[in-house]
Amino acid sequence: MSVSGKVAICPGSYDPVTNGHLDIISRASGVFDRVIVGVVNQPVRKQKTLYTSEERKAFIEQAAADHGLGNISVEIFSNLLVEFAREQGAGVVIKGLRAISDFEYEFEMNQLNRMLAPDIESMYIFASARYSFLSSTGVKEMATFGGDVSELVPPAVASSLTDRISRDSEG
Ligand code: ADP
Repeated sequence: MSVSGKVAICPGSYDPVTNGHLDIISRASGVFDRVIVGVVNQPVRKQKTLYTSEERKAFIEQAAADHGLGNISVEIFSNLLVEFAREQGAGVVIKGLRAISDFEYEFEMNQLNRMLAPDIESMYIFASARYSFLSSTGVKEMATFGGDVSELVPPAVASSLTDRISRDSEG
């Protein structure tokens, strides 16, 4: 295997990172020499994120350190995923697959990315059963209505969410 084949990218918006994301990231880190978590920062915001890209990056870095994941780094990117992968010397993009709803979207993205960059391989890791219905959107909704999210996200995220959501709804 070439050197670039041992580096994988785990892209996402991570707004905020959940234990489901961390499950995929840590399983990828067991397979590849190096995993780069790519935090999407859309320059033209289609959807406003709850956290800035720097905040989202910091939550992932802290959680990776807490989980003892030494071969993980986190980078913010705002260009095409396959371009970002090439810049980082990564030959593989890892995506997590939850319930069947993820499949259709990922199937389409796979075809597009393959057309743009046949040299970059996309690979998929199935969500663990206990996280297969967990999404950042769901966590934010739960926290909006005062639900306990401490089992679903890292501690730093759980303790910041309620505050951030109330600040966000005032602004
Ligand atoms: P979300 O859909 O929660 O907003 P992102 O866009 O940040 O997530 O997703 C980043 C990657 O993580 C995607 O490949 C997505 O399918 C995957 N992912 C998100 N939540 C989970 C989960 N609970 N289990 C496994 N993979 C997940």
